[in-house]
Amino acid sequence: MHHFFVKPEQVEDRQIRITGSDVNHGKHVLRIKPGEEISISDGCGRNWICQVGSLDETCILAEIVETEMKSRELPASITLYQGMPKNDKMELIIQKAVELGAMRIVPVATKYTVVKLEGKKEEGKIKRWQAIAKSAAEQSKRNQIPQVSNVITLEQALEEAKVCESRLIAYEHEDGMAGTKKELLKLSAGQKIAVFIGPEGGFDESEIQAAKKAGVCPVSLGKRILRTETAGLSLLSVIMMKLEVDL
Ligand code: SAH
Repeated sequence: MHHFFVKPEQVEDRQIRITGSDVNHGKHVLRIKPGEEISISDGCGRNWICQVGSLDETCILAEIVETEMKSRELPASITLYQGMPKNDKMELIIQKAVELGAMRIVPVATKYTVVKLEGKKEEGKIKRWQAIAKSAAEQSKRNQIPQVSNVITLEQALEEAKVCESRLIAYEHEDGMAGTKKELLKLSAGQKIAVFIGPEGGFDESEIQAAKKAGVCPVSLGKRILRTETAGLSLLSVIMMKLEVDL
């Protein structure tokens, strides 16, 4: 069953109007036909199962069949602060982070970040990354579209993340998994959680010191050195398991 996001104002009493670029996508890429069932979220926690009524070039009209009460969101809100990687790696990271339940992805410029994004170039990239987040949210049938924020410095990220009850920074020189286990056990529903991952070059020792000073806890992800794209996904997976198994 294909999944769509709409704005609350597109939802009427018994029907929902899908408009904009989703119409072209639904008609020509997903090849949706009248009579087909689809699921729709308004991004504010309401979800429906609908049957496609009519389709034209500007609108897919979906008749509401039932209101779905089940939420697919994690019980805690995770922000992934990702040290900006090279090439297109950020695209994969965003796609997978959304599948694993992250609520927000923030690209972070660190000491060893090679790519510099500014002005128009940054604007274009963020737009593309946001579109990737939306399609990953549709694919994984999320109830919300996670947000991709503008690039900030690590210093700004550490400051911003102070609102989070749990803050973890993946650090390959951290010894042993005892600390990781202890931090994971502290996670619980309702929390805001921040996860920091370094770029390919890793974090500088001074950055780890700054993170610690800001109250962020360095954690190991095992004895092997993971690539930046693997590190975030591995930490998000264990956090996701901890939160969902706890329920
Ligand atoms: N350049 C470094 C590795 C950086 S890996 C080196 O070769 O030593 C990129 C990022 O992934 C790191 O900054 C860290 O956040 C995370 N990472 C990779 N392996 C890890 C591990 N075993 N434990 C914790 N974090 C890890």
